[in-house]
Amino acid sequence: MSTLLPTSIVGSLPKPSWLAQPETLWSPWRLSDDTLFEGKQDALRLAVEDQRQAGLDVISDGEQTRQHFVTTFIEHLDGVDFDQRETVRIRNRYDASVPTVVGAVSRQKPVFVEDAKYLRQQTDQPIKWALPGPMTMIDTLADRHYKSREKLAWEFATILNQEARELEAAGVDVIQFDEPSFNVFFDEVKDWGVAALERAAEGLRAETVVHICYGYGIKANTDWKATLGSEWRQYEESFPLLQRSAIDVISLESRNSHVPLDLLELIRGKKVMLGAIDVASDTIETPEQVAETLRNALDFVDADKLIASTNCGMAPLSRDVARGKLAALSAGAALVREELATAQV
Ligand SMILES: [Zn+2]
Repeated sequence: MSTLLPTSIVGSLPKPSWLAQPETLWSPWRLSDDTLFEGKQDALRLAVEDQRQAGLDVISDGEQTRQHFVTTFIEHLDGVDFDQRETVRIRNRYDASVPTVVGAVSRQKPVFVEDAKYLRQQTDQPIKWALPGPMTMIDTLADRHYKSREKLAWEFATILNQEARELEAAGVDVIQFDEPSFNVFFDEVKDWGVAALERAAEGLRAETVVHICYGYGIKANTDWKATLGSEWRQYEESFPLLQRSAIDVISLESRNSHVPLDLLELIRGKKVMLGAIDVASDTIETPEQVAETLRNALDFVDADKLIASTNCGMAPLSRDVARGKLAALSAGAALVREELATAQV
């Protein structure tokens, strides 16, 4: 992409109230069958339109066709029983009732490829599609079959790679893997997490992104963040490994996070998708605040490798707040772009 400081959201946008209950994560659909299919497509088009009006450069589906960033993918796979549920601890943080792996996992047919084709039809701009990463997938399940987190992760990596290749063939330019688990399970990240992620991204010509965050602005996450102290150094564990990996772009939090920006030195050479929008707050950033966040990162990232983004998904926000934040992201990036252009003259 030729634009300096391109803008792109991490993933989700709020859903319209006629599709699902607003300002709620993982809220159930309000439509069913054919009307649900049509409603999801309409919502996807609105998500594209909101991003286009805000002037974003890389367009996402706003995750309008999925209820949950991990579960919706897993629902389409064989080997997982959604009726057999167990309570497990997610990312060492909160308990949730999750489905159980009861046999070999496999993907009989594409999961998101039709949705991605529909997104492709809506815009000529580059498009991005997010998938869960292998480690984050296994952390959202009980396993009664493989009895090994690593084994199951490798199976999911193979399945994700199949899906990613088909998304690429459908015209997706950027494929993102969401791995919030990389901020939690440091030993596994080293032992097999990054390798499994690379397996998921193997052979892709599309640009590949790994998104690692501190989660949506829900209570379990904000409580956890309160225990992390004044400096959040979790990225220190994964960044050196990712710097040496085949993944092209690292997506991380910055705005209102206590992440020391000098950690970006650890991924020198990679593209950086920097969160300049706080998704855990209803306060809409000013363009100047967005610009300041981006400027601070430029001490550690070459300007041609910086992508302006959000800290995480915006699903739980109101649509008005989300639209305001999209506009701020775009305007803030434009400010820094102008400064860089002036500095070059
Ligand atoms: Zn996130």
